[in-house]
Amino acid sequence: MSDHENQEQFEGLLSRYEPVIGLEVHCQLKTESKLFCSCKTQFGALANQNTCPVCLGLPGVLPFLNHQVVDYAIRMAIAIGATVREKSVFARKQYFYPDLPKGYQITQYDLPYCENGHLALNSGRVIPIERIHMEEDAGKSIHGDNASYVDLNRAGIPLLEIVSAPALRSPLEAHEYLRKLRAIVRYLDISDGNMEEGSIRCDANVSIRRRGVKELGVRTEIKNLNSFKNVERAITYEIIRQADLLDSGTAVKQVTLLFDAASGRTQVMRSKEDSPDYRYFPDPDLGLVQIDQARLEAVRATLTELPVQKAKRFHEVFGLTDADALQLTDEKELALFFEDVLSRVSPIVPAKIVANWILTEYLREHNNRQWTWPATIVTPESFAQLLRALCEGTLSGKMAKMVFDEMASTGANASEIIKLRGLLQINDADEIRAVVAQVVREHADQVALYLTGKQKVFGFLVGQVLRLSQGRFNPGMVNDCLKEAIHESSAKN
Ligand code: ADP
Ligand code: MG
Ligand code: ZN
Repeated sequence: MSDHENQEQFEGLLSRYEPVIGLEVHCQLKTESKLFCSCKTQFGALANQNTCPVCLGLPGVLPFLNHQVVDYAIRMAIAIGATVREKSVFARKQYFYPDLPKGYQITQYDLPYCENGHLALNSGRVIPIERIHMEEDAGKSIHGDNASYVDLNRAGIPLLEIVSAPALRSPLEAHEYLRKLRAIVRYLDISDGNMEEGSIRCDANVSIRRRGVKELGVRTEIKNLNSFKNVERAITYEIIRQADLLDSGTAVKQVTLLFDAASGRTQVMRSKEDSPDYRYFPDPDLGLVQIDQARLEAVRATLTELPVQKAKRFHEVFGLTDADALQLTDEKELALFFEDVLSRVSPIVPAKIVANWILTEYLREHNNRQWTWPATIVTPESFAQLLRALCEGTLSGKMAKMVFDEMASTGANASEIIKLRGLLQINDADEIRAVVAQVVREHADQVALYLTGKQKVFGFLVGQVLRLSQGRFNPGMVNDCLKEAIHESSAKN
């Protein structure tokens, strides 16, 4: 079934059923070294290059806690307004897997370091975050034609697992929640938040209930979603599947699912009955994680503005609309681009105009041409030159768009293009009057028509003047000069 058909079916079932979604998000922290050893974490190293006896799980070794991880974890807890536990515990989660050499994963279980946070959506709905815990990543199995391989570079890389309450009510809300989480970790500079490289992975728990019913329905869990789009598609598909089951009188079974992006379907990985018993117990090799008030305050002191605070400031200080402020702060680099350009053009160019140009012209090219941050093709400096020329009146709006198109396709600076193309707007009244006089002369009958009350003709006459100036005359001045010239000519007759 196509995504489009899914969407129709999805909208149809919403009058009967309410979707309930909770996300478990794994976020890779960008520390230099791993969680319990000093191996490097960098992406793209040779297979098994970043390993040592600790993360290889050799017997007789002792893990030691990387305190940078704890500081990053605290940043995240503060950002979502959560409570930090003074003494939390690392536990062993036992299971067998070829890329898990120890036979257990070190994670936090009943005593995580962080609980009771929240995140507000643009609608104002607040999504509770039940807990965050620190844990280590597993390695990676690579399946070749004749053999399978194990790469343990990722084993022991620090992750935060961020668990939302079952409070999201649609695939779109899940998408927005995830985007906002990603923005926060990027603002905090604790993760690159790159979904394609697996820095953020998401398990989606999905159930539905009849409208008006309070109890939660039986949920399924879709594992390891790796793009925003797939999070939305998988949840939509799953909601439809569950509604079909309930409509036909069949109960939903609690299962763990995998999403196949190619077919757009979920398939069962395991059922509740054969879900493993992990036999958690506190890791005897690691002491308690102690986070006292002083440490909390020390980390708090290092925090810079978060998306919500930035949006509030953009609204209050620069007078941007809430919608513009939210969109501009949606991504840290975009917000920085806006602030950089604004600082170069203020007060000649109003913040509103900077915001408009960035959110429409700039972002369109940025997305279409798949530019990455920081901006190098259209730099803040060049963009500032363009907006300054526009607001100082040396470029008309139309010319500014032309210049911007050329900036985007060639990477040349705005001022270079304006100079090279001789594109400066002409504000010289005498020069404009001369051409206006010519047009009034050559189109005497149109002028007469205008004088009989045919207002539309005026636009035609303006167009003639602008055409002769190859678009370079200041349109406002052309308007004024033309009115002036027509009145003079009518007074003479
Ligand atoms: P587990 O430890 O088995 O994964 P949790 O109770 O910790 O289960 O919940 C994991 C995730 O499932 C959380 O994000 C939570 O919000 C979500 N969840 C729990 N119950 C439901 C439900 N009925 N429908 C949708 N999501 C749910
Ligand atoms: Mg789970
Ligand atoms: Zn190691």
